[in-house]
Amino acid sequence: MADLSESSVEIIPHDPEFIPPENAQVRALEALRTFVADGDECAKWGEDYVQVIGLLRSEDQAIVCPHCQEKTFLDKGDVFCLGEELFSAPPTDIPFIMPCCGAELPMSSVGFDPIVGFAQFGLRISNTNRTLSFEQIKKLGEILGCALTQIQLSDGVSVGPEPDA
Ligand SMILES: [Zn+2]
Repeated sequence: MADLSESSVEIIPHDPEFIPPENAQVRALEALRTFVADGDECAKWGEDYVQVIGLLRSEDQAIVCPHCQEKTFLDKGDVFCLGEELFSAPPTDIPFIMPCCGAELPMSSVGFDPIVGFAQFGLRISNTNRTLSFEQIKKLGEILGCALTQIQLSDGVSVGPEPDA
């Protein structure tokens, strides 16, 4: 049997500060469970402030400017500094000056490639190699009343908040 490395998937709103109503959260979690296999663990989580979802890469991390759309590749030193900064405060409260055009933006509005997400609420599938289809993401978004992004976190690296009990 192939030794597949397992990962988890976070499904988060585009708007980092969006928190869906509790009943929509519950319905979305129920819908999510119908999209996955029996062994996949699904959960939802919510936090008091915006969380960082994902990891920066030391080799090929770029940031994308929401102001001028310019993509800037970061060297290792920049990635290290950015990593320290990212976890120093809620990312909505960290001002960041874009290297491309000098725009000053909250860290949570900076685009990352590969993606790093920012959210106060999310759905999670743990220990899975699965990702959701476009239609499934759209369906969950309809239930939650927001556009969603899916982020795959590889190799058992644990990031992001604890799921609700
Ligand atoms: Zn820019």
